Amino acid sequence: MIRFLAIIVLLFAVNSCKLIKKKDEQKLPKAKNIILLVGDGMGVSQIYAAMSTASKPLNIEQFKYIGFHKTYSATHYITDSGAGGTALSTGIKTCNNCIATDTSGNSIKTILEYAKENELATGLVSTSSILHATPASFIAHVLSRNSYEEIALYFLRTDIDLFIGGGKKQFIQRKDSLNLIDSLIARNYLVADSIHQIPENYKGKLAILSAREHNPSYLKGRGDLLPEATEKAIQILSKNENGFFLMIEGSQIDWGGHDKDIDYVVSETIDFDKAIGKALEFAKKDGETLVIVTADHETGGLTLTDGDLKGKTIVANFSTDHHTGVMVPVFAFGPDAEDFIGIYENTKVFEKMMTAFQFKK
Ligand code: MG
Ligand code: ZN
Repeated sequence: MIRFLAIIVLLFAVNSCKLIKKKDEQKLPKAKNIILLVGDGMGVSQIYAAMSTASKPLNIEQFKYIGFHKTYSATHYITDSGAGGTALSTGIKTCNNCIATDTSGNSIKTILEYAKENELATGLVSTSSILHATPASFIAHVLSRNSYEEIALYFLRTDIDLFIGGGKKQFIQRKDSLNLIDSLIARNYLVADSIHQIPENYKGKLAILSAREHNPSYLKGRGDLLPEATEKAIQILSKNENGFFLMIEGSQIDWGGHDKDIDYVVSETIDFDKAIGKALEFAKKDGETLVIVTADHETGGLTLTDGDLKGKTIVANFSTDHHTGVMVPVFAFGPDAEDFIGIYENTKVFEKMMTAFQFKK
């Protein structure tokens, strides 16, 4: 009898566990929106250099779900931003310099294109030219990242809702004499040079080409373009009832590393962190937005050999003026954020976004 009762109790316990588990699973919402923030060249040292010298704690310090990804490409131990961006945007490792194609040149569908197909709003924001490797990896399909004029054509082939960045030159001064700004206007885009020209409560499509080539660095007067563009982009894209996908790039952390210039690296990382703050602010209120912060690779082999936290100074050493092969961190907040813990391939970031969106390939 006692044994029989014990079995009944055990069965009850097992079943209620299952019930609790099922309830938890049901409670987990899928991500309605994803904001992916890519700090080009931003490794752990770049982040800690900014943390050590900033006047207040960084927004990035709020994340609880943190992992690392391996950045090597299909062809090189040291990736470039083409292969690095393509891994994040399409889930495949490809050749250095390749933009959302496999190593044979076949186009691979990007998360932005999947989002569009699923009727989400889509956007790209960058502090470089919008045609540069990282943003290009989300929208274009070319074997060479330097084919800027060809990359510009993809901004008309994909029905992207908004983009903000430099690169105006290749829209208007082209070998084929096409004027892509006229084409954008014909497709109902509001085209402007500055985010300050966007009317209040603007709802339509938007192309902000804020520089002829790249935007200036923060130290050379870019101002709050990145955090302000992030806020504007979220405001506009979140009007879509089905949700949105937005990629924000802090492009010039990488260029500071190439220049072995710690002030350049730190100022760009702190500026990028302000954009992270805008994304987190929205995600906390919204409750259905997954925010992911990562890099494509580290740049400069940066080490901090000394520092003073009170005086907010650091002694920085760069071991190279190129990219390095080290793992880079991933930070996540929102629905499915716990899925980003651990060590995995850069391509898994794409897979995890697909799962969070519940998209089918
Ligand atoms: Mg880049
Ligand atoms: Zn680089």
